[in-house]
Amino acid sequence: MLDHLTDLGALCELPAFSGLDPETIKGVLDENARFIAEVVAPLNRVGDLEGSQHDPTTNSVRTPTGFIEAYHQYVAAGWGGVPFPEAYDGGGFPWLVGIAMQELISSANMAFSMAPLLTQGAIDLLMHHGSEEQKERYLKKMVTGEWTGTMNLTEPQAGSDVGAVRTKAVPAADGSYRITGTKIYISFGDHDMADNIVHLVLARVPDAPPGTKGISCFIVPKFLLNDDGSIGERNDALCVSIEHKMGIKASPTCVMSYGENGDGAVGYLIGEANQGMRYMFTMMNNARLSVGLEGLALAERAYQDALQYAQERQQGRAPGAPAGETSFIVELPDVRRMLLTMKAIIDATRAIIYTNAQAIDIANHHPDPEVAARSQELVELLTPVSKGFGTDMGIEATSLAIQVYGGMGYIEESGVPQHFRDARITSIYEGTNGIQAIDLVGRKLPMRGGGVVADFLAGVVALDAELAAAGESLAVVREQLAAALAVVDDTVAWLTEHGVADVRNALAGATPFLRMFSLLVGARYLAEAALAAQADLAAGGGDTEHLEARVVIARFYAENLLPAVHGLAPSVTAGFDDLYAVGPSALAG
Ligand SMILES: Cc1cc2nc3c(=O)[nH]c(=O)nc-3n(C[C@H](O)[C@H](O)[C@H](O)COP(=O)(O)OP(=O)(O)OC[C@H]3O[C@@H](n4cnc5c(N)ncnc54)[C@H](O)[C@@H]3O)c2cc1C
Repeated sequence: MLDHLTDLGALCELPAFSGLDPETIKGVLDENARFIAEVVAPLNRVGDLEGSQHDPTTNSVRTPTGFIEAYHQYVAAGWGGVPFPEAYDGGGFPWLVGIAMQELISSANMAFSMAPLLTQGAIDLLMHHGSEEQKERYLKKMVTGEWTGTMNLTEPQAGSDVGAVRTKAVPAADGSYRITGTKIYISFGDHDMADNIVHLVLARVPDAPPGTKGISCFIVPKFLLNDDGSIGERNDALCVSIEHKMGIKASPTCVMSYGENGDGAVGYLIGEANQGMRYMFTMMNNARLSVGLEGLALAERAYQDALQYAQERQQGRAPGAPAGETSFIVELPDVRRMLLTMKAIIDATRAIIYTNAQAIDIANHHPDPEVAARSQELVELLTPVSKGFGTDMGIEATSLAIQVYGGMGYIEESGVPQHFRDARITSIYEGTNGIQAIDLVGRKLPMRGGGVVADFLAGVVALDAELAAAGESLAVVREQLAAALAVVDDTVAWLTEHGVADVRNALAGATPFLRMFSLLVGARYLAEAALAAQADLAAGGGDTEHLEARVVIARFYAENLLPAVHGLAPSVTAGFDDLYAVGPSALAG
């Protein structure tokens, strides 16, 4: 993934990463993997069993046994800062490397990983839009992980529609603001793992225009800072309760009350008033990519469990096995199908997400502005795919793992139900997958007059000659890819024509289109990976078994998953008429 599909070597050639080389980076990844496996992974189950607990007398949250110590070790090792610029005491590594590390921590313990993840989003926003003074006071401690960050968007009436935010921010005489209001579902809004929490809060200043144009963004620290930067007085930013959830139980999902005890929590405006939504968009691509990655990470964890179980559980007789012998279920065709489906899903989503991450690095750091701009377009196109498809597939793969286990998969002690329960939120937060689909159809397909998606599809066409040259082993990939491409091409044309005529057509078909487009994107990258593997095999290099598996996975995906695009096409182009043909009362009948 890092050498062939993405090109870590080429990234290290960029001036921003000139001090790095792939071997050093892989050494860091190995060390990170060891730390995560030894320190973070063992806390996954205890986190699920104990959950985080809220103490209403102190409005504070206690994380599960072992979380504080593990987090302190994480900070001491400096893992959180690896992909951030050295200017802010980060490691200066590519985002792609940060994503690879994030996959490990999310696989190991998704609930734990959310503290660094939310902090990362807050760092991203402050780095781009905070004043020099704000960066000096808050950013460095967040990059090291000594302080964590939160993102406070959601309110009871403002979910997908962030423009409905009502939290108020009133200017105070000293240039700061007083924040009053309630935020819900705030991940790690309070906890006991770090000395301070830097809340980034969306609120409205007096006379702000309605909707998204009137939203401003504020820093509201849990503890105010003294002039010398040391921790001072407690701010009036309280976690008044936490939610009881289906999964990620160790990640406290907080109801936050600002200004509960007086005239408001002290907040500091980031950038200009009424520009908060614009600032949020800066970090949104990265945050959405990270949530897509959570889907992948849990799929990988569930797959590893399922594969091991299938090799240990004996039941039934596989075709061809001697009479009277009981087989391991891994030998049964339907179990094989489930395992290969999971593996294909994982390889495809990892390929999409890592390619997306590499595109972020190129967009941010390539010295040629034209190359950087094209890469940014790819980031925009792939982000809803990474988020929407990555999380939908995470849910599907974790569900398949339960199926591989049979009855034991439904039993909590097996550990597998937790992966499914944890995965379920990923298609909801950071923009529901319905919103991702609308983003793809409504904002991304029309980019550069349709030129961006056309360029991407041209990339699929360009693979044809290489696949033809690869011979029989990839013939079915070539055939299925060409057939799927033709359908996607037609569907894009239909959406463009009928979506312009009546936007409800595009909105009604958006979700099936997201799936069909994602299936094609996954197929493209798996084909590229298979071609690279074949080239390595021909050159006699590398781990033969691993390389051959890449070719088989590409074929399996092309034959078993990709053909779904044909069934999805009529659903995309059905239009909206029937959706509204009967009212809710008739639907109840
Ligand atoms: C565990 C957890 C952690 C969270 N962490 C955070 C956090 O740290 N910070 C934070 O600010 N928020 C957080 N959230 C909130 C999360 O981002 C919202 O729940 C999410 O954005 C959806 O909003 P909603 O729940 O109000 O659903 P709604 O917006 O009410 O959506 C309900 C349904 O309607 C659909 N829908 C809504 N609007 C549209 C539209 N325009 N077009 C088509 N369909 C639409 C949705 O897709 C969905 O299916 C968290 C939530 C949970 C459960």
